[in-house]
Amino acid sequence: MTASETVAGGVHAVRVPMHGGGLPYSLAYLVEDDRGGVLVVDPGSPGWEGVRTVIAAVEALGRRPSDVSGIVLTHLHADHAGGAAALREATGAPVLMHAREAEALTAIRHGLPAPDLEGWGVPAERRAELAAVATAPAAPDLARPDDVLADGDLLDVPGRRLRVLWTPGHTPGSLCLRDEDAGLVFTGDHVLPTVNSGLGLGGPTATNPIADYLASLDRVAGLGGLALPGHEHPFSGLADRCAALAEHHLRRSREVAAHPGGTVWEVASALTWTGGWRNLAPFPRLSTLSQTALHLAFLAA
Ligand SMILES: [Zn+2]
Ligand SMILES: [Zn+2]
Repeated sequence: MTASETVAGGVHAVRVPMHGGGLPYSLAYLVEDDRGGVLVVDPGSPGWEGVRTVIAAVEALGRRPSDVSGIVLTHLHADHAGGAAALREATGAPVLMHAREAEALTAIRHGLPAPDLEGWGVPAERRAELAAVATAPAAPDLARPDDVLADGDLLDVPGRRLRVLWTPGHTPGSLCLRDEDAGLVFTGDHVLPTVNSGLGLGGPTATNPIADYLASLDRVAGLGGLALPGHEHPFSGLADRCAALAEHHLRRSREVAAHPGGTVWEVASALTWTGGWRNLAPFPRLSTLSQTALHLAFLAA
C-alpha cells in the first residue's frame, strides 16, 4: 500500500505513522459521499504530522479541508483518535464516537481508580509502582465528541448507508461501521488481520470484556465483504478471522484455568507473555495482570 490507496469505490486508506509503538502505522479511511464531502474514519495519532497526512490525502482527491463532513472514531485509543481535535480544528468537522466510549474517555481523563492489587496477590513492594501507572490521568489531548452514536445509527453520509455496530470488548464503546451497499466493514481494532488486540483497554466495565468481545465477534463474523481494519491492511475472510480470534482468547482462558486457586499475580507469573514476565516494566506488567484478572473473572462467570 502506498501512503494513500483506494480500497473500494470512493473509499481510501491512509497510512498514518505511529512512533514508539509496536505497530508502524494506523489506517485512517476517507469515505467520499455523493455531494463532494469526505467522512474521515479514525484520523490517527496525535500531533500535526498525522493530521497533515490525512489532509494531504483529502487534497489528493481534489477536496479541501472544509469538505471534511465528519470525523468518526472507532474507539478512544490515541493511535486512532489522537488526531481528532487537530483535524476538527483544521476542517471544522464534528467528532463522533459511541456514547459508551465518550463515558470511558471522561473516566480515563480524570484518572481511574487503582485495581485491588492486594487482592490480586501483588507483593507489597510492587504495589506502589503499579498503582501509579493504573491511576495516572491519561488522554488529555483527545477530542471530546461533538455528538455521540448508538448501535444501529445510520451516519449522515449522502449516497451511502453507513451503519454503526457497537462492538465492545477491546474498549467499552468500540464500534464498527458497515457500508451496507458497498459490502465494507470498518473494524478499527476490533478485528485486525493478524494482530490479536488486547481486551478491556478502556477502563472498568460492568460486564466482562472477554464475554463482550466474543459476542461482538459474532456480530461481525457473518457480515462478509471487505474488512477495513485500523492497522495492517484490508482483508477478506472476516468469519475465519473472527473464529481464530475467539479461539485465541479461549485458549488463553484454558491456560488460566490450568492454575486453579492461584491469585492473579501467581497465575500471571505462570503464563507465557510476549515480553517475558520477570523484567516487565510497570505498565506492561499491569497489563498482564489486568488480562489475567479478566480471564479469571470470565472463567468464574
Ligand atoms: Zn485500540
Ligand atoms: Zn490501534
